[in-house]
Amino acid sequence: MNCPICNKNMNIVRKDASYNRSKPATYDRTLFRCSDCDTWIKIEVPVKQMRAEKVIQPAS
Ligand SMILES: [Zn+2]
Repeated sequence: MNCPICNKNMNIVRKDASYNRSKPATYDRTLFRCSDCDTWIKIEVPVKQMRAEKVIQPAS
């Protein structure tokens, strides 16, 4: 991914998963950082696979 500010290549800082209870849906979350201008971008891509059972159930 390129930085939207300076168009340099961005580094992946972290990859993990996030969970949206209201959907419910699991997302692959990736955090990018531009080392040139210090801009951060977070993207969350919905996971289509049947991994829902493994994810933390919402507290009732
Ligand atoms: Zn940048």
